[in-house]
Amino acid sequence: MKKLLAATLSLMLVLTFSACGEKNNSSQNEEPQGWYTQGEIKITKEQAQKIINGNFTTPKNIIIIIGDGMGPNDITLAEEHADGVYDFGLVLNQIKNHGLATTHSYDNDVTDSAASGTALSTGVKTNNGYIGKDPSGKDLINMVELARAAGKKVGIITDEVISGATPTAFTVHNISRSNTAELINSMISFKPDVLMGKDYNSVFMVLEEDEREIFDNEYLVAKDFKRFTQVLDTDKDSKKPFLGFLDGYSSIPTYNLANCAEVAFKRLKNDNGFFLMIESSGTDKYGHGNDINGKLNSVVTLDRTVAAALKFMEKNPDTLLIITSDHETGGVKLPTGDTKYLSDLLTVTEHTATPVRVFGVGKGTEYFKDKTVDNTDIAKFLFGIITGQ
Ligand SMILES: [Zn+2]
Repeated sequence: MKKLLAATLSLMLVLTFSACGEKNNSSQNEEPQGWYTQGEIKITKEQAQKIINGNFTTPKNIIIIIGDGMGPNDITLAEEHADGVYDFGLVLNQIKNHGLATTHSYDNDVTDSAASGTALSTGVKTNNGYIGKDPSGKDLINMVELARAAGKKVGIITDEVISGATPTAFTVHNISRSNTAELINSMISFKPDVLMGKDYNSVFMVLEEDEREIFDNEYLVAKDFKRFTQVLDTDKDSKKPFLGFLDGYSSIPTYNLANCAEVAFKRLKNDNGFFLMIESSGTDKYGHGNDINGKLNSVVTLDRTVAAALKFMEKNPDTLLIITSDHETGGVKLPTGDTKYLSDLLTVTEHTATPVRVFGVGKGTEYFKDKTVDNTDIAKFLFGIITGQ
């Protein structure tokens, strides 16, 4: 099977990968040199394995990376697809503690991102469309609130808008994922220590007067990625939360999300530890858009973020890393002998009920090894880590 898969893919990938040679950022030397660096994250297979199999201590820092709509077959296909990026496949596939998670919501076999985001952040199943509320409409405690109550710094990064279902389900509460203005106002009022998403105007334009005041006076704001250094260097020791706007998800593999994660690690690191949620959304968008190439490239973008997290863990063994997905999108199948086009591998443009992968690095993550859990179990596991129980 593996040979057949490799043979079938190798031909298709010659065509698909030639378009994404975004390896060197030629403008890198023109960037202001400062607090963060923009560009490649280098890791070898041996280095990744050494970090993954290293000795971890009781976690103070928790990082969860969510590939929106990233199904198991996306990862299988992207292993071949990623070849040549690091001279091996995905960093993700070097992780030995991995299993599966079911994703159904309270009211549907097929979840949406609101219900699954709520399940992952609170450990409770709810109705599709609900953000951080149980099926009766009552607010649920999420792990960002719990981490903050435990004295940790908290961060949210997405390569979509901050009003999306995943970042909001981890942070605030609303009866509908469609109440965009309410969600943005709640996010701004909550003031995560680090908040990053795409599109400055999508946030600023919908703020009410008092929230706009909070935004102006109480945040360090960088309107785009190029201004991160300038803004953060100006006020390096500031206790103000940082709101940064990054380039959105892309159909080619990028380091943008990984570079933003590195900024967040530096900004969030403190004696009490931190909780950081990072969402890579291309795996969902290109699933809905019937674009398998964009989908697999988005797995590579997520994988580079995993590499950034592992490099942080190399120096900070009191860190725990979980990588999972909220649901599968696109009904991706693996190629057979008759598969002619890569695009034939996407069978639907909607979410499916297929269980997703869960990967863990750090103390206690053998819990996930070779098991199928429910997405609420991932939350319960992390609640235990945050509360030290
Ligand atoms: Zn989703």
